[in-house]
Amino acid sequence: MATIGFIGLGNMGGPMAANLVKAGHSVTGYDLNLGALELLAKAGGKTAASAAEATKGADTVITMLPAGQHVRDVYLHQGGVIETVKAARPLLIDCSTIDVETARAVTAAAVTAGLAMLDAPVSGGTAGAQNATLTFMVGGTDDAFARGRQILEAMGKNIFHAGGPGAGQAVKICNNMMLAINMIGVSEGFLLAQKLGLDWSKLHQICATATSNSWALSSYCPAPGPVPNAPSNRDYAPGFAAALMAKDVKLSQEAADATGTPTPLGAQALRFYQQVVDEGQGGKDFSVVFRWLSQQKRG
Ligand code: NAD
Repeated sequence: MATIGFIGLGNMGGPMAANLVKAGHSVTGYDLNLGALELLAKAGGKTAASAAEATKGADTVITMLPAGQHVRDVYLHQGGVIETVKAARPLLIDCSTIDVETARAVTAAAVTAGLAMLDAPVSGGTAGAQNATLTFMVGGTDDAFARGRQILEAMGKNIFHAGGPGAGQAVKICNNMMLAINMIGVSEGFLLAQKLGLDWSKLHQICATATSNSWALSSYCPAPGPVPNAPSNRDYAPGFAAALMAKDVKLSQEAADATGTPTPLGAQALRFYQQVVDEGQGGKDFSVVFRWLSQQKRG
């Protein structure tokens, strides 16, 4: 069984670390938020007062942080993880969703220090994190992937090796750009249906077996009612926060700019989610874009 240092115990990292404990691994966690540490302790993990303490003696280090800057801070700054763990040569696995450039830069710094690293962002939301059914999209060498696979299997159901360093992040931002656009599409359909006098449950029942079906429609319906456990039925409590979706779509648009890729709907989706955030709804689930849209005027 592995000795794991886990940094970032938020909505996703908390339950992921708890599943590693459940699988019999020894997990020591660190988070800036004391409440998150308490939850890990309740789940049977150990807690630490710093990233250095959490990763001391670990054979595997896992991070689940908000964005690229946090990942750079934790791994690269003076006294950061790469510097403090390099003698013990643990495998580093970053599960955060971040830009491809940062993923490649941090991996390159790890390799220079003699360490193996994977970028392993996830899909499946907080329910997937809790139930250990996440999909992992992994970038890194074959050797690093083979080393990390069993640990990822304790937190997820589908573990995909997407390619070399950064490839996991590349898949993830494309996935989330598609999801962001799709959620807006489903929202528009449900709004129009309402104006046309249709019942949302009926629309859902029919479209879930028709050509417009998608995960956003069948499992995460943004209109309240048809999918009882969707965030739309609990005032859009996350789930996956709109601010994080805006961050991910922004990453996709930066990548599209860098590669000269035409993504007009991705650009429009970014404008919508950014407005949701600017209007103070960034902490709500990203499906709140439905309610936001229902408050807009046509024109
Ligand atoms: P979160 O904000 O709930 O958790 C992040 C945690 O990191 C927080 O508890 C925060 O205190 C901690 N943190 C920040 N800086 C730190 C530091 N320097 N040292 C220690 N701890 C630090 O976010 P989340 O929803 O768990 O998402 C984490 C990542 O997973 C993001 O990149 C997000 O895009 C991605 N993601 C989230 C979901 C989802 O449904 N929530 C789904 C897929 C991917």
